[in-house]
Amino acid sequence: MITATDPTVTDQEIARHLTSAEVSNRSVAQKLGVSWGRVDEVRQRLQLPTYRRGRRVPERSWEEAVRNRIKTVAGGHAEWTGSRHPLGTPLLSWQGRAETAYRAVFRLHYGRVPVGNIKHVPDCDVEHCVAGEHLEDRVMRDARRAGGAR
Ligand SMILES: [Zn+2]
Repeated sequence: MITATDPTVTDQEIARHLTSAEVSNRSVAQKLGVSWGRVDEVRQRLQLPTYRRGRRVPERSWEEAVRNRIKTVAGGHAEWTGSRHPLGTPLLSWQGRAETAYRAVFRLHYGRVPVGNIKHVPDCDVEHCVAGEHLEDRVMRDARRAGGAR
């Protein structure tokens, strides 16, 4: 029986190639020798944005790139429309560099480089929220805890 899908290629391998909306399903399918449908299935399961041809309008700054990928949603939370790590972490891929969207949003929002890990503030219960005011680094966490203990 002939099958269009190479069973030796894992979903994880497909996911590794699907790094952003600028990567087409077809190019990944051809590279890995799997069907277009299989790639599309992985893309949807990972909730990666659909490939949009001609989307590449050059962004002049990383600030602009961040703003273009943030979509504010109800409750003051924000959704990341850019690429994601296979585990769901929002990623900013811009000019060949990638970092977590949390770090980029934090820098944009607070105007400084975050210290330690970035986590969501206790009031934010939305997974992968990228609202600047819902992110805090170690400095802010320590200050909040010190304030609460007073
Ligand atoms: Zn939030």
